[in-house]
Amino acid sequence: MSQPVAIGVDLGGTLVRVGVFNLDGQLLCQNETSIASVGPVNGLSLIEHLIRESLDSVNFPTLLGIGIGCTGPLDTIRGLINNPYTLEGWNNIPIVERLNTTFNVPVRLENDADAAALGEYWQGAGRDAKRLYAVTVGTGVGTSLIIDGKIYRGVDGSHPEGGHQLIDPNGPECYCGHRGCWESLISGSAISNQAKSMPTMDARSIADAARTGDPAAIAIMQKAARNFSLGIINIISFFVPDVLVLSGGVMKSSDLFLPTLEKALKTPNPMVPFDRVHILPATLGYYAGLYGGAYMILSEAK
Ligand SMILES: [Zn+2]
Repeated sequence: MSQPVAIGVDLGGTLVRVGVFNLDGQLLCQNETSIASVGPVNGLSLIEHLIRESLDSVNFPTLLGIGIGCTGPLDTIRGLINNPYTLEGWNNIPIVERLNTTFNVPVRLENDADAAALGEYWQGAGRDAKRLYAVTVGTGVGTSLIIDGKIYRGVDGSHPEGGHQLIDPNGPECYCGHRGCWESLISGSAISNQAKSMPTMDARSIADAARTGDPAAIAIMQKAARNFSLGIINIISFFVPDVLVLSGGVMKSSDLFLPTLEKALKTPNPMVPFDRVHILPATLGYYAGLYGGAYMILSEAK
């Protein structure tokens, strides 16, 4: 008996993941492979192969469509990947048209932060939240706003970048051209850059050193926690979402970040109902983007 399914694709700088989902949101099968330095020609063939392989391991699938979450910049309206920064050679690559021709089904393309947020809205921590804001702190800082299950977009379909909100005018230069962006202060690489006296340390080792009482590491983590809180407070002041989902490496250091945030949010503020916002850890982990990709298709198929 035929089984309707949707494919979610998560295309990152190092890995591509493919997941097959049924209408109930169950992940039936998942495959992944390295895509680092493969280039767009072989990369697209690799993605098609992974999709076929995944479909083959599901009983009698009827493919409804393919939803892709990808690291930006992208042109989500024309379905182009414009990201030679983390995907070498992927300049104006029409991935939507290509997969549409190959599989003859609807194909959607969204920013990876938006895809992950959609996944958390559909089957994760933000399930059915009317207003959901998602923040992922990893190598960079990704943000997304989902309203009534739909991605909020800026002018010409642009993706708002909460990670580049300006927090400290005296902060470090950011690759976006400004100074003291949230991302340049709290991302994993920002934290390890601050540990100049500890050259081999990544963000996780600095967090570990802070836990064992190393004063330099404690100072770095406290500063990062304060800057993290400022960004979250700005976001809540602008949007007052029902749910704010946090994911990425920051959640591995949540014991060092969240107490500072909780304290800051308890500061009485008659203007913004901070206590009404549920701040929750993401629950889908690395698979959030796959869920979101499938939801791009299934939400339209309903
Ligand atoms: Zn920036």
